[in-house]
Amino acid sequence: MVLRRCIRAFSSAAATRPFRLAVVGSGPAGFYTTHRLLKEVDHVKIDVYDSLPVPHGLVRFGVAPDHPEVKNVMTTFDRVAEDDRFRFLGNVNIGPSSESAEKGTVSVQELKQHYDAIVFSYGASEDRHLGVPNEEVYGVESARAFVAWYNGLPQFDNLKLPLDETDTAVVIGQGNVALDVARVLLSPIDTLRKTDITEYALETLSKSKIRHVHVVGRRGPLQAAFTSKELREQMNLPNVAFKADKEWIKSEIEAAQPLLSKNRPLKRMMGILEKGSTVSTTSADRSWSLEFLRSPVEILTDTNRTRVQGIRYELNQLTGGPLGAAKAIGTGQFEDRACGLVLRSIGYKSLPLDGVPFDSRQGLVPNRYGKILDSEGQEVPGMYTAGWLKRGPTGVIVSTMTDAYETADTIVEDIKEARPMLNDDLDKDGADGLKGIFKSRGIRPVSYVDWKRIEAAEFAAGEKLGKPREKFTKVEDMLAVLQ
Ligand code: FAD
Ligand code: NAP
Repeated sequence: MVLRRCIRAFSSAAATRPFRLAVVGSGPAGFYTTHRLLKEVDHVKIDVYDSLPVPHGLVRFGVAPDHPEVKNVMTTFDRVAEDDRFRFLGNVNIGPSSESAEKGTVSVQELKQHYDAIVFSYGASEDRHLGVPNEEVYGVESARAFVAWYNGLPQFDNLKLPLDETDTAVVIGQGNVALDVARVLLSPIDTLRKTDITEYALETLSKSKIRHVHVVGRRGPLQAAFTSKELREQMNLPNVAFKADKEWIKSEIEAAQPLLSKNRPLKRMMGILEKGSTVSTTSADRSWSLEFLRSPVEILTDTNRTRVQGIRYELNQLTGGPLGAAKAIGTGQFEDRACGLVLRSIGYKSLPLDGVPFDSRQGLVPNRYGKILDSEGQEVPGMYTAGWLKRGPTGVIVSTMTDAYETADTIVEDIKEARPMLNDDLDKDGADGLKGIFKSRGIRPVSYVDWKRIEAAEFAAGEKLGKPREKFTKVEDMLAVLQ
């Protein structure tokens, strides 16, 4: 409260012009940072940029179609957008300086001229690779690409997957994304029809021959990264049996009892795992399994290396600590298993952006409570970060919110203490000052009102199909609504 009064005092002193903030990325991190700042600082104007014409990042393009309740956060974001100090500029890519002119992007350098501060919250748009031979052959894909495909991220509609050429898929990694993709592969098509999954994905999945999905981890059950709710959902899939070495899992859980008694969430999850599924293996026509202590060392292919035919694993053992601290080390024993589709789900990855410090080893923007640090560890005036770009590509929307609030509080504190911002000697005019650049580069910014028109067209198209919405999956189709 005291803090907020100070900000108001500062704001009225500087009332000749507002504090201009740019936010790069309109996912949860961008929106929650904006939300907090609009609440705490009267005299702020915030322009939120996104490379896509549509906002909300992974809430739209990551969250599984059969989890509509998670997407309700969009209504919170809509309320943020109602504030007249907020502006959305979709369809504006913030990119490398060298490509700005040709590729219709705006560089960080250009943005800096028009704002007092910038928050970088552009998430993690790539994924990690296994680094094993033949990873590039047909039939090996990232879970990120598969998710982007079924969720309609532009440029993924042509993804080719051998869904009608094999009955066995392997998902490498045991996080919640791995369970999302396993569930989508095994869900009854009529369940998916009622969601906002894209029509082309529905059509392809309706012809899918996948019957068995193996979700493979390099460590043991106590180290799995997925969570109870998602595991329970997977166990409850209709007509899908669960296969695993249940005796071994039981013995692992028993051996960890003293530690589990102090870790209730993990204990609950182990209970779900031990209980398994009620669907019997004899009556089910599909199955999924959890396999542990296996690291892929090679993708096995046909003789011409044109498609995946299996995976060679090295069997692991655990060493070095209890529960999450345990490390997998290879035993020198190998195992070959047949499959026709491999989805690697071992994490997303952020990319560096010209003009923004980046720690390539950790894959994030170095920061202190959201304030960006340079290579010497010094704070960079007026530069902040939030979300997956700030802390790495893990954490649910609620943890992204908490961390975005932390960044917003750092900015509030810096305003209050009148700390240096970007080019303090310049007068700032926000996106108005970039109109010339937009025009000369053929950039057509999409406002939030524009987005609501695009969304209304999606709702209308969805209604005809009995779905909550039918997403536009091409940028040109989104923009066509606005003509
Ligand atoms: P993002 O959501 O990735 O937002 C980044 C934004 O930046 C995007 O809109 C992108 O278009 C934009 N952008 C990127 N580059 C540029 C650029 N150069 N210029 C301008 N804009 C740019 N959490 C849950 O709580 N529940 C779930 O069910 C759930 N499901 C998930 C499913 C998947 C497959 C994934 C990957 C994550 C899921 N999460 C879930 C986690 C949640 O999505 C993240 O915590 C959250 O989205 C991270 O927010 P962010 O804003 O940091 O990044
Ligand atoms: P994640 O939770 O970090 O899981 C990554 C998995 O990949 C782990 O099992 C990890 O094993 C494994 N892995 C990493 N590198 C590997 C390698 N080289 N070889 C083999 N395995 C490797 O990441 P995620 O699944 O991408 O999820 C990202 C975040 O989004 C998470 O916080 C998740 O909870 C959230 N999310 C939430 C939901 C939901 O709430 N429903 C849905 C989707 C995503 P190790 O543990 O051994 O490293």
